[in-house]
Amino acid sequence: MGSGLSGIAVAEKLLSKDKKILVFDDNSQTSSTVAGGIYNPVILKRFTLAWNANEQLGTALSFYSSLENKLDISLIHPLPIYRRFHSIEEQNNWFSAMDKPYLSRFLDEKLVSTINPHIPSSHSFGLVKETGVVNTKVLIEKYRAYLASINSFKEETFYFDHLEIKADHCTYKNWKAKKIIFCDGFGLKKNLYFNYLPLNGNKGEYLIIKAEDLKLKVAVKSSVFIIPLGKDLYKVGATYNNWDKSKEPTKDGENYLLEKLNGFLKCDFEVVDQVAGIRPATNDRKPLVGQHPVYRNMYCCNGFGSRGVLIGPTVASELINFIEDSVALSEDIDIRRFAKLYQAASS
Ligand SMILES: Cc1cc2nc3c(=O)[nH]c(=O)nc-3n(C[C@H](O)[C@H](O)[C@H](O)COP(=O)(O)OP(=O)(O)OC[C@H]3O[C@@H](n4cnc5c(N)ncnc54)[C@H](O)[C@@H]3O)c2cc1C
Repeated sequence: MGSGLSGIAVAEKLLSKDKKILVFDDNSQTSSTVAGGIYNPVILKRFTLAWNANEQLGTALSFYSSLENKLDISLIHPLPIYRRFHSIEEQNNWFSAMDKPYLSRFLDEKLVSTINPHIPSSHSFGLVKETGVVNTKVLIEKYRAYLASINSFKEETFYFDHLEIKADHCTYKNWKAKKIIFCDGFGLKKNLYFNYLPLNGNKGEYLIIKAEDLKLKVAVKSSVFIIPLGKDLYKVGATYNNWDKSKEPTKDGENYLLEKLNGFLKCDFEVVDQVAGIRPATNDRKPLVGQHPVYRNMYCCNGFGSRGVLIGPTVASELINFIEDSVALSEDIDIRRFAKLYQAASS
């Protein structure tokens, strides 16, 4: 259930193994649709490598590229990211980071003093290499249409009270399946079987602005990101809010982003839209993947946090290899690390 970044990666892996699938989605979560879609192995706040990102990058790019061919669409848009430094100390941290294992591949050693007349800086900019954007909105729209064309998609809410779990299969309404995999993002909070897992929603909002004079061809990360969308439109964000779990864009989000943006963008612009979604985040920043502790034909693939584009294809593949070929899941992602929470919740 679910056809965000997780559900698509899981579905595709199952289809590649000739499995018959049926995917439910009711659009109750929007994280994958509103995402910036950035793939970037480097955490730009601390100049560290994101968890397993160098391994995930190749898998993700070949996964989205195979979907481009399969669906005859364009998804991957390579896009350099420039980090705008706020101090000499940050510049120095960049150079120290280059000595760390795996990071030198992604951090350009030549800093540049200017990238655009409307984004001035008293310090320089550092270029992150091998970055870009996956158009998640197009991916989701086209992948759902593809699933519908092979009679494998239902645009409807999955109701847990219609699910019956038997020893070797489950039934839902008049469907019967050997296994069920939940890819419900923050919807996991309403999942009767997996809501014992420690998933923290983190709300993110973006503004879409129109800035005719800006003519920016790269993404810039200052206090917030500016991501060019074409036709003088840019995504600006995002916010990170652990308290508000509503899906609607807020005035607070808009004010926060405008304050940050006005701090470094020096040209006219107008806000044309605002979007929001809940990131399925975890405290240990690792995904939540694996088999239900009691109902052995139920699985979940969740907890991608703010990096679903990179994480999704690798962990979905791990999950299906585990289900189909009994290849052990890596401890990092296996939900067995939270077995005690299940015991506590069911006692
Ligand atoms: C503002 C913002 C910006 C982001 N930017 C980036 C970025 O630049 N790069 C990046 O890698 N990641 C980014 N992310 C994070 C990324 O979006 C997530 O990691 C990813 O989308 C999670 O995918 P998912 O499939 O697990 O969850 P979701 O996208 O939430 O998908 C879950 C799906 O399950 C469906 N569902 C849930 N419950 C039910 C039910 N009962 N019945 C039927 N359907 C149901 C929902 O409708 C939804 O489609 C961003 C997130 C936000 C909010």
